[in-house]
Amino acid sequence: CGIVGYVGGQSALDVVVTGLKRLEYRGYDSAGVAVLSDGGIAAAKKAGKLVNLEKELVDRPLPGGSVGIGHTRWATHGGPTDANAHPHLDNAGRVAVVHNGIIENFAALREELVERGHTLLSETDTETVAHLLAEEFSSVGDLAEAMRLVCRRLDGAFTLVAVHADQPDVVVGARRNSPLVVGVGEGENFLASDVSAFIAHTRSAIELGQDQVVELTRDGVTVTDFDGAPADVRAYHVDWDA
Ligand code: GLU
Repeated sequence: CGIVGYVGGQSALDVVVTGLKRLEYRGYDSAGVAVLSDGGIAAAKKAGKLVNLEKELVDRPLPGGSVGIGHTRWATHGGPTDANAHPHLDNAGRVAVVHNGIIENFAALREELVERGHTLLSETDTETVAHLLAEEFSSVGDLAEAMRLVCRRLDGAFTLVAVHADQPDVVVGARRNSPLVVGVGEGENFLASDVSAFIAHTRSAIELGQDQVVELTRDGVTVTDFDGAPADVRAYHVDWDA
């Protein structure tokens, strides 16, 4: 139900967990985070309140990193368990994705993936996206392009945010019928389902349009449609107090 992504000079884990706390008012049943670190992805996820995730992060600390994503889940497909909590990873553990919404054609996609030898570990609609992103990334070598290719195959409502261990300076987001906002900082950028997640860091925001993909680096924000055509973006100033 809430999504946060970060790329910059701060501890991604701190920024993401703090951002998720700002989204707590939305209600949720599980929470999780993933950080890019040491050439791989480190993730933690827990059913229940954010305090459960925070306890897990104390018991089993994740390595530090400056690129990360986080999620609070409101379960639609699969009960509120640790396994169904986001982020979801592909079998090689190279891609992590968080998702708000519903992938309506997930059952057909899941069947396809299983036929191609993938093992799905959760009951969610979301997990299919992690596997599809891994497949597309292995042929195109670019996460934003992989996201565009995957989104064209998805039906339903989704805000998606993903990272890939082979492109460790990038966070990619996409949206259809579900909100996603970019927070534009200096030497850091944010993604969230709601500006309140990053308003403590920046008040410069870009609202993503319908069927758009955004690629964030520390110093860049690139927005396209699902076919790769560049989109016009205009940042606005968030002038209310969160
Ligand atoms: N459909 C996804 C799930 O059940 C995402 C739910 C949400 O929006 O949090 O895991």
